[in-house]
Amino acid sequence: MAAVDPPDVAGAESERLLRLVATALVRLSRLRTPGDPVYPDVVQAAYNHLVLVCLRTGRPAPGSVPQLARWAAARPLADWWPYLLKDQHIGDLRLVDADTGVPAQECLEWAVFAPDPAAEQIENALLKEALTLCRAAKAPDSYTAFRRLLIERPVLTGVELALLSADLDLSLLLDTVKRCYEPVTAAYVSQGRCTLCAGCGCLLVPLRDGGYACTLDRCRRKPVVVRERLEPGADGGLYLLTRPLRVFITGPGLAETGLERRLVRLGLDVAMWPNFDAYDLRVVFPDGRAWGIDVKDRANPALLGRTTTALRGEPPYDRGLLVVPFYRFKERDGYREVFHHHLPEGVEGHVSLLTDEEVVRQAKSTLARTVRRTEPETARPAPRTARIVQRTTPKPQGGQLDA
Ligand SMILES: [Zn+2]
Repeated sequence: MAAVDPPDVAGAESERLLRLVATALVRLSRLRTPGDPVYPDVVQAAYNHLVLVCLRTGRPAPGSVPQLARWAAARPLADWWPYLLKDQHIGDLRLVDADTGVPAQECLEWAVFAPDPAAEQIENALLKEALTLCRAAKAPDSYTAFRRLLIERPVLTGVELALLSADLDLSLLLDTVKRCYEPVTAAYVSQGRCTLCAGCGCLLVPLRDGGYACTLDRCRRKPVVVRERLEPGADGGLYLLTRPLRVFITGPGLAETGLERRLVRLGLDVAMWPNFDAYDLRVVFPDGRAWGIDVKDRANPALLGRTTTALRGEPPYDRGLLVVPFYRFKERDGYREVFHHHLPEGVEGHVSLLTDEEVVRQAKSTLARTVRRTEPETARPAPRTARIVQRTTPKPQGGQLDA
């Protein structure tokens, strides 16, 4: 049947299979006993399905699950995929990174958007759990502290993890936090030490040639810089944030907090993850106008487009923006076009996609216009320090220009 299906049906089938295979590869990478010949159902099912399609389409099939994993690391997808891949970017994709042996970020993106990703959604459940607990306790600061922890401290020692119980904001979420981290495995240890990446604070993977590789895309395009070497057994052992949380929280989170720093430096008032994560940044200009910003650091613009919804409206903003780090646009031609092409009906026209560089540039020019507009009313623009002094009583709404 598939061989004579119209192309769109084959495309949909190909995509479904890609999600299954990606989910299987992610699951394989998380097995505690990699040599175990009994694979989880999701792995076996994906493999069987792939072999069936290969037989039907007359393409060579991988002889075993390990061979599938080897193909995924060693060969571009177009080389062994049983369907025609019209998207050349996907065709060039290696689902597993050959250097580190872990699934590529784009493989994780396909896995997360799989039709039945229950088992892969543990991390989503953890985030929801944190949100629910913080909402019930009316503790937005706890949620913000939780997000910052996952972004800024992807590696903790056992002692540090235990000490979080003394942190006023985080004590509420201690149990959830503990489940976000897992003990470091031998794959991260080389010559008795684990090595921290200076770019993201995650652990680097030691390579056979003596070098290191970071598993986050944002670090992969630059030479590796070592921040620190740690003893894996010291201070109660080392714990690393689970990989999906590193990819979907730490990675974009570093882009979010980087943008926060740049906008605060301009003198803007920035609130992070307002109203229990309605969106990522709320930026308020001196005239009271606000921008709502969501930051996504996604490798695949089609998957991003398809899952994009309008920003939530509370707290309100005058302009809603979706921001993707500039390097993604450099790494993939036509990122913006592919994204817009895949936006769901009804969302197109309501979402502006910008790079982080563009947001900062536009914020600067908006700020300059705002200051010019307000200039005639005030005798002259007050320097920042003076404005802070001016509002000792009463505190104006929003608490601008604190930073
Ligand atoms: Zn890194």
